Amino acid sequence: MESESEYVQLAKETEICRNCKNLVVGKGNLNSDILFVGEAPGRNEDEQGLPFVGASGKNLDNLLERVGLSLENIYVANILKCRPPENRDPLPEEIKAHTPWLIEQIKQMKPRVICSLGNFATKFFLANGNVDEMSKMPGITQIHGNVRIIDFQNLKIKLIPLFHPAAIIYNRNLIDSWDKDMKIVKNEVSQKTLL
Ligand code: URA
Repeated sequence: MESESEYVQLAKETEICRNCKNLVVGKGNLNSDILFVGEAPGRNEDEQGLPFVGASGKNLDNLLERVGLSLENIYVANILKCRPPENRDPLPEEIKAHTPWLIEQIKQMKPRVICSLGNFATKFFLANGNVDEMSKMPGITQIHGNVRIIDFQNLKIKLIPLFHPAAIIYNRNLIDSWDKDMKIVKNEVSQKTLL
């Protein structure tokens, strides 16, 4: 049997992975240019082993449809590969143990655009993957829709922070901002040269 990669082992050794039903690695097209990164699997995702299949997933499907995108054009992953109990926030130690796997996915996929969904994913990329620096980064309310080019793991990537689809379920006032941000994503995605 082939031995498991170190990044898989590292994630699996965390308490949340010992207690979850399924690892949630990602879904969509790994050959596409656009990666959406959420926070962590919830109950439905844990049951099915797929990201964004619950209520926030329905909202994300909407978001994609609005800009003429589907899972054929994007890949979707999360900061954490397993569900934290009671859907609590990811802990810094968990982010440290799980993101080497995400980084490996990014290195293989080489996306030109990353849409970070919500605070955790956004701060992770703004901090260039340095988890201890994440708390110093601006929050999603401040920087959603602001496109910036980041140098992440020697890859030049356009980062577009977006509100987390779950936040929109709870705060319908965010829909206007969401629509404006989606126009920005659409514009960036439709550019022939993404950088
Ligand atoms: N929220 C996330 O951030 N990711 C999922 O996969 C589901 C809900």
